[in-house]
Amino acid sequence: MFAYCPECGLRYEREQGYFLGAMYISYGLALITIAALSALLWASSSWSIERAIAIASLLFLPLVPLLVTASRVLWIHLDRRLDPGAD
Ligand SMILES: [Zn+2]
Repeated sequence: MFAYCPECGLRYEREQGYFLGAMYISYGLALITIAALSALLWASSSWSIERAIAIASLLFLPLVPLLVTASRVLWIHLDRRLDPGAD
């Protein structure tokens, strides 16, 4: 990840541990995604709910890099909205 946006020069990591907040967003998005995938698999198959959750968790793994990136973007937007600051 770049330290600064190559387009506008925005500094991404404002302080040490800045993206800790993004982890909360990531956790929530992961739960929603896995729950939705599990429900879809469970409803469209004869699998037990435990099996559907296990398979949904495996299907979710390739989406993790996308989710981490999206979470950081959402965090930056939220943080900049609440605390525009100088940097
Ligand atoms: Zn930019």
